[in-house]
Amino acid sequence: MAGEPQDDCLFCKIVAGDIPATIVRETPTTLAFRDINPQAPTHVLVIPRVHYPDAASLAAGDPDAVADVLREAGEVAAQEKVDGTGYRVVFNTGPGAGQTVFHAHAHVLGGRDLQRLV
Ligand code: C5P
Repeated sequence: MAGEPQDDCLFCKIVAGDIPATIVRETPTTLAFRDINPQAPTHVLVIPRVHYPDAASLAAGDPDAVADVLREAGEVAAQEKVDGTGYRVVFNTGPGAGQTVFHAHAHVLGGRDLQRLV
């Protein structure tokens, strides 16, 4: 069922505590942890506890969770002290855009010069 944990999902396993992660923030609906392959001095993933494969399906199925993820992205940026200089929030969506884990997640990147993308 939509939103239910998936046995084969890495991030559902992190939510369940079955796979370790360096958690930086937790709320009743979200988890934020350091990316294991950081692309910037601050590289934190913010995920909803509920399982949806990507940001668009999360928005369709649980819009409040999208708001929670984005609010937490801002809280992470403030906690990491990159909010002053600027940071980037990225939702890779689909394999062609580099998505490798199909549990919706926001990358929060900061602490270095981030080239303008668009
Ligand atoms: O957007 P994408 O799906 O590629 O992002 C998945 C991210 O999850 C990668 O940046 C990868 O380094 C990270 N990851 C992680 N911990 C794991 C497995 C993957 O932080 N155990």
